[in-house]
Amino acid sequence: MLSPTRELASHPARRRRIGVMTSGGDAPGMNAAVRAVVRMSITRGCDSYAIYEGYDGLVKGGKLIKQMYWGDVRGWLSEGGTLIGTARCLEFRQRPGRLKGAKNLILNGIDALVICGGDGSLTGADVFRTEWPGLLKELVDTGELTAEQIEPYKHLNVVGLVGSIDNDMSMTDATIGAYSSLTRICQAVDFIDSTAYSHSRAFVIEVMGRNCGWLALMAAISTGADFVFIPEKPPSQNWEDEMCDIVGEHRKLGKRKTIVIVAEGAIDRELNKITPAMVRGVLEKRMCLDTRITTLGHVQRGGSACAYDRMLSTLQGVRAVETLLAATPETPSYVISIRENKITKRPLMEAVKLTQAVGVAIAEKDFDKAISLRDAEFAEYYNCYRSTTMRSNPTAMKLPENKRMRIAIVHIGAPAGGMNSATRAAAAYCLTRGHRPFALNNGFPGLCRHHADAISSVRELTWIEVDGWISKGGSEIGTNRGLPSEDMEKTAWCFEHYKFDALFAIGGFEAFTSISELRKARDKYPSLRIPMVILPATVSNNVPGTEFSIGSDTCLNALIEYCDAIRQSASASRRRVFVAGADLSGSVETQGGRSGYIATIAGLSIGAFAVYTPEEGINIKMLARDIDRLRESFANDHGQSRAGKLILRNERASTTYTTEIIANMIREEANTRFESRYAIPGHVQQGGAPSPMDRVRAVRLAVKCMQFLEQEGQAEAAVIGIKGSKVVFSPMEEVERDDTNWTERRPKKEFWMDLREIADTLSGRFRPPDDS
Ligand code: ATP
Repeated sequence: MLSPTRELASHPARRRRIGVMTSGGDAPGMNAAVRAVVRMSITRGCDSYAIYEGYDGLVKGGKLIKQMYWGDVRGWLSEGGTLIGTARCLEFRQRPGRLKGAKNLILNGIDALVICGGDGSLTGADVFRTEWPGLLKELVDTGELTAEQIEPYKHLNVVGLVGSIDNDMSMTDATIGAYSSLTRICQAVDFIDSTAYSHSRAFVIEVMGRNCGWLALMAAISTGADFVFIPEKPPSQNWEDEMCDIVGEHRKLGKRKTIVIVAEGAIDRELNKITPAMVRGVLEKRMCLDTRITTLGHVQRGGSACAYDRMLSTLQGVRAVETLLAATPETPSYVISIRENKITKRPLMEAVKLTQAVGVAIAEKDFDKAISLRDAEFAEYYNCYRSTTMRSNPTAMKLPENKRMRIAIVHIGAPAGGMNSATRAAAAYCLTRGHRPFALNNGFPGLCRHHADAISSVRELTWIEVDGWISKGGSEIGTNRGLPSEDMEKTAWCFEHYKFDALFAIGGFEAFTSISELRKARDKYPSLRIPMVILPATVSNNVPGTEFSIGSDTCLNALIEYCDAIRQSASASRRRVFVAGADLSGSVETQGGRSGYIATIAGLSIGAFAVYTPEEGINIKMLARDIDRLRESFANDHGQSRAGKLILRNERASTTYTTEIIANMIREEANTRFESRYAIPGHVQQGGAPSPMDRVRAVRLAVKCMQFLEQEGQAEAAVIGIKGSKVVFSPMEEVERDDTNWTERRPKKEFWMDLREIADTLSGRFRPPDDS
């Protein structure tokens, strides 16, 4: 893992200068990446330079290459677009342009570059690096620079960060900006949804992505669109029939609205362009649907970065600096990527080549190859979309009669964004395969209680009932914290009575505990000897067996929106600290979810001055040190910077030092030199509509869970989780024994603990208070 405060292993003779630039199309999160690179470079004893306006700045030099100080990037985490500018630069495509760029870098003493951009920008970076020795020689031969001038800069090191809303780069699951863009798209489609429903209309929505269908596919999954056109998987030659069959089927099942998503680069199998106007024409003529086209355009680039992009770009920016400092003349240029939950680095040109190969495969009409060349997740998401979208020919994917199951679905614990999306996906998958999905209303207590009243607590789910659930917050089937042990006898009886063949549980630590109890009760109750699987869903992200619970992303987004707003207020009055009580409200936490995940990641995403977690606790020394730092920081500010600061405190971090008490202590110590306020977001953090990331992950993981339950002879109880770079099913018995801290109700090892140091480093918590 990264250790940013570690001293440089070998201190170079000269102070290294690291340049950072953004290039190509702008993407939300680029500013967070620049902030991380600037602050990390300074922390590691280097000078940091921003190259403004992309490669244009490199070619023109002068004022476009500027030294950056710690305070220059203050507040950048929440800004959209790129504050150092970007451009498409024709001159840099030619060697003379690159020659000027090389000269400008040497004149500024820079020989290490972090470039945040798309595949074009990164290709340019690699060309530049390859040519570097030749460019230097030419500069000396033509007398532009002397041999002494170039001597210290013989090798150029380059690291790429993929900044692009299109998510079109191979070898990484996500590019910086992609999930923010997806958020805008989903917000727009959610809005369109209600008007489409009201008038029973069809909408054809064109989304960006050039020749990559990621945004379109993810938008289709997270809005439950009826049909999607993406370039990697063009529809059959008679796409008009295929689309009309499916739309017709959905209308027949009772659906009042039709949403078709068209990727910018949509084509048919003969590579003819499919346009929104063509799609509308077909829907109007063949289906007699009142059809409108919405082209979302640049709205998709707009706004502040979502929580995931802030975290991704921050961690990648940190990793980029680490990679540059470890580089030798022999190491290749790297691109920093992410696989599931793990930041990794890959040879830049390998990633670029693979990306370009997708275009070639499409041009050669080898669509299977095209989809396989995108990251592994892409193909999986495509299959998820297909298997959860009702088709007109359902028998094609159905299992033989004897393999079909009655699957119980239950929500346990507090509501979390994505619970409904997962239920919808599971139910739709079941129907596609011939299983029968049953909802247990209001958890296990609901199952036992209502059964006695002969009011069915179990209802069979139909496609039309669940179809709209993809974007709904809360829990449509009702959730409850009660455990099966409250009445195991009756629970087991109900399982037998309803002849359940499998159980799909969605929830947080209570769900984990419930499955553990059911597993242990199997010896006594044969009806419980069925496969069971939990999909972790909780805003606290404290379920053992996974690093990611659905709902936590929705919570983070709600929290950072809240924090951005109060931080703005703190900045506006300049000399104010806000202490925010992060994480859940008391009522949800009373049984003891004690994970500082949300507080830490929110802190990382908004640049909190300090984060207090239950894992670390709060003590008087810590508070005294932080208050001293605040005092020094405000004293050194001289009013030139926006000095609003935010402290995040998980509500379980300490029983003594409450959010209010800390705010009061700070106020007392500030002695009128600055103000201190506190704010508690409470249930706001459970979010409204689930975030697109929670929706798509809910769909993907729910489908995987169904496939797990389908496996022949599978009588296991397991938890599905994202661990490092993999999605895994872990046997409950193993996780309960090896990975669960039952007292604190969290995993024994929390992956995000390593991130606290990065959050502290980048917020300057332990920095000498020069506030430059
Ligand atoms: P996006 O995916 O948002 O379009 P991109 O980085 O792919 O971003 P491009 O327009 O392809 O966008 O490239 C940005 C800039 O990178 C170009 O304007 C050019 O200056 C430089 N560049 C691109 N390709 C090359 C190349 N092969 N050689 C040198 N420079 C290049």
